[in-house]
Amino acid sequence: MEKKNIDWSNLGFGYVQTDKRYVSNYSNGAWDEGALIDDPNITMSECACVLQYAQTVFEGLKAYTTESGKIVTFRPDLNAARLTASAKRLEMPVFPEDRFVDAVKQVVKANAAYVPPYGSGATLYIRPYMFGINPVIGVKPANDYQFRIFTTPVGPYFKGGAKPITIKVSDFDRAAPHGTGNIKAGLNYAMSLHAIVTAHAEGFDENMYLDPGTRTKVEETGGANFLFVTKDNKVVTPKSDSILPSITRRSLLIVAKEYLGLEVEEREVYFDEVKDFAEAGLCGTAAVISPVGKIVDHGKEICLPSGMDDMGPVTRKLYETLTGIQMGRIEAPKGWICEIE
Ligand SMILES: *Cc1c(COP(=O)(O)O)cnc(C)c1O
Repeated sequence: MEKKNIDWSNLGFGYVQTDKRYVSNYSNGAWDEGALIDDPNITMSECACVLQYAQTVFEGLKAYTTESGKIVTFRPDLNAARLTASAKRLEMPVFPEDRFVDAVKQVVKANAAYVPPYGSGATLYIRPYMFGINPVIGVKPANDYQFRIFTTPVGPYFKGGAKPITIKVSDFDRAAPHGTGNIKAGLNYAMSLHAIVTAHAEGFDENMYLDPGTRTKVEETGGANFLFVTKDNKVVTPKSDSILPSITRRSLLIVAKEYLGLEVEEREVYFDEVKDFAEAGLCGTAAVISPVGKIVDHGKEICLPSGMDDMGPVTRKLYETLTGIQMGRIEAPKGWICEIE
């Protein structure tokens, strides 16, 4: 298959229209058979539930080329399960999980010409999502839904090495106690827009959100979970009902335990403890791990001992092992790599 003429290593993270997208519609209580289509535009009522009341959930994963030239995705069954949890919380119908994985495969295969070559650092980002599409004006869930998957090629997350970032402790919350912080819903991102624009204007890369109930415990950033390393090399990650369960973070904990022989703790992490950690990183599909060099709490700086020049040694080991597994250089646990072609 002929690849598209794209300058892969200079691609950014923006929408680039690709050839095919997958669409399935839900009405009268059932999903239709679904299809790959050409039209990137959606026509809907001005009163569609998604436009009025934000009834929409999404997922994010990547397809990429391994060292041996295969096109694969990473643990798409977990994205399917998470979309199920998200849909249930917003009173939406469940898209069958086996059909989700099949649809991911179909749409990647149909856009194989946009899957970047091995070694470019670029990937094909896959965005599955679902939304209420019929007119709704009195507040209630929609009756009709659309499930869609589009793909877009994105460039390497770290151009010229992974530089540690600086984050601020936010005065805003991204989630409410007993709210929707643990599902992947667009509404959580709408909540975080003002906070991230404010943080950027003040010169920070990201926000650290504290637990919305007591504001004493670390939760996550707008789109990535935290991972900390203690001075005696324990990997610690915050546990909370309002954190989005990152697939990358869950995979890294297994890598830490099973591949690197490190002790792992998933528990409440008080902000007061952060000053004692040796390393910190943010984990998510986009970057795998982005190292954190500095955390600023209302002018008070916490400088991680790993510094502002490079990833800490444990963070680097975790990063290299998981990306090695993804790229087929290190043997993967059973079921982690989903072959497309
Ligand atoms: C998607 C997301 C993550 C990262 O999850 P991955 O499955 O690792 O990509 C973390 N936090 C939030 C709020 C997210 O929406």
